[in-house]
Amino acid sequence: MIFDVDGVLVDVRSSFLEAVKRTVQHLVVTETGARDDGPLVDDELIATFKRAGGFNNDWDLAHALTLWYLEAGPAQSTSELRRRAGDPMVAAGVSIRARTARLARPTYDETKGLMLEQYWGSAEAVRLFGIRARLDVRDPLLATERVLLRAETVESLRRLGITKFGVLTGRLRIEWDRVRAGVPLPRDVAVATDEDGRKPDPLVLRSIVERLGARHPCYVGDVMDDWRLVAAYNDRFPDAPATGIFVVSDSSDMDAFRAAGATEFVRTVNDLPATLAED
Ligand SMILES: [Mg+2]
Repeated sequence: MIFDVDGVLVDVRSSFLEAVKRTVQHLVVTETGARDDGPLVDDELIATFKRAGGFNNDWDLAHALTLWYLEAGPAQSTSELRRRAGDPMVAAGVSIRARTARLARPTYDETKGLMLEQYWGSAEAVRLFGIRARLDVRDPLLATERVLLRAETVESLRRLGITKFGVLTGRLRIEWDRVRAGVPLPRDVAVATDEDGRKPDPLVLRSIVERLGARHPCYVGDVMDDWRLVAAYNDRFPDAPATGIFVVSDSSDMDAFRAAGATEFVRTVNDLPATLAED
């Protein structure tokens, strides 16, 4: 059983997703001079982009949302920008490459630098990543993360005969290292991070399956890029296909996954043993 991290093993709504909200707000207000009279990004907007696929990476998501709003400007206020930006479903269908081609500023590195500052705190982001600080973030959002997977869940999975565990995440290795001590997976869990390749590249999943020697791999994810990963893997390696199980808490997400072809769902990672026992 191979797990995605963000949204599956770890609740990142108050860390990475909050970093997306703050970064977009800061960049758009700074670039346009619009009066800040309300948030540009909320949970629903993030869910729409994650559902569309292509935005598993939160730096990509923050950058795409920033460029979308800048294209909608100029405007007097952020609430006016929000109205003018149009349908989020349509916006989520535009690739980050297409947006970058239309608008050169801010650069991707600027967005990424602000994301790192929000997540790690400014001083730590400078020390670890050599960025130039633009903010003065003293309360890093990483401190708000909560591990979701419980030790009892891993024990129950073992009792069902699942003995090999892996992790495939879009996090940086250093970001995984920060949370791994709190995640009750075995010490020798096979891990692939952003440095090893990006979803939905099936070869990243393949490398974990091979390291584990898994004959019936199962990937547990939570966004459309996770489904695309499993689908790409099964196209490429049809002889030993992987099962995709998706953590969904929202009926719109469930509908989108079903429409794409997914069939296995849980409400939280800790429901996996009960769901698998039923099957
Ligand atoms: Mg995820």
